[in-house]
Amino acid sequence: MGLSQVADGVLAHESEFIKSNAVVVQGKAGVLLIDAGITADEMVAIADDLRRLSQRVVAGFSTHPHWDHLLWHAELGEAPRYGTARCAAEIKAFLSDAHWRDHIVEDLPPEVEVPLNLLGLITGLPAGTTQVPWDGPTVRVIEHQAHAAGHAALLVEERGVLVAGDMLSDVLVPMLDFSAADPIEDYLVALDLFEGVAGDIDVLIPGHGSVGGADELRARIEQDRAYVRALRDGQTPSDPRIGPSAKPGWEWVSDVHEGQLQGLAQKSDK
Ligand SMILES: [Zn+2]
Repeated sequence: MGLSQVADGVLAHESEFIKSNAVVVQGKAGVLLIDAGITADEMVAIADDLRRLSQRVVAGFSTHPHWDHLLWHAELGEAPRYGTARCAAEIKAFLSDAHWRDHIVEDLPPEVEVPLNLLGLITGLPAGTTQVPWDGPTVRVIEHQAHAAGHAALLVEERGVLVAGDMLSDVLVPMLDFSAADPIEDYLVALDLFEGVAGDIDVLIPGHGSVGGADELRARIEQDRAYVRALRDGQTPSDPRIGPSAKPGWEWVSDVHEGQLQGLAQKSDK
């Protein structure tokens, strides 16, 4: 079985592709599926698992407008899929480029086959929406500016579970949204926002990486804050995710870091 339980009524599936986590929240008449997965095989496996559990998908949610959080498979059914209003607007703009498929394929290792035909077919929730509209436990939408426009983490309140999107990863350093006016400040504000709800959280599920508990959540907030502050202050971050301490197979995260240094230098030149 590809899905494993991470909290009461919450299951997750970890992809082979950069440890991407798809998350299932059990509701009254079916499940909410957050960031559905990467490859066709994985999404079909999730659909099969749900069938075995006699569950169907009644709602979907994409945490942010990056392709690896926007995928879907016909086997998962035709439930409404949501994102924030800003997320939906970003996707619409992305899909209006005739070459959008090429941009994704350029990003992918050749062995990873990704079904693109249902990518990004989401409905934007009206700005200011605080909960995912569905028949299940309250899922709070925590929208913030960091990593990508319209990024939202979801808090399954009664389960104490935070689905963090591309924040608070143990394998990826904070990845800034260079389209924003002040990506560093945005990121620090978002980390403060997570710290503000940390007391309600027992389980953290990042978009990529390992699931953690409450202590791990606080440690990752601190680790990410230290990384972003080092970028801000022009210091070399001492961070286990980059440099010689990076795990085998994750050396490319150091390239992401170098790219961010360049991006910041260009921004300050302007
Ligand atoms: Zn992302």
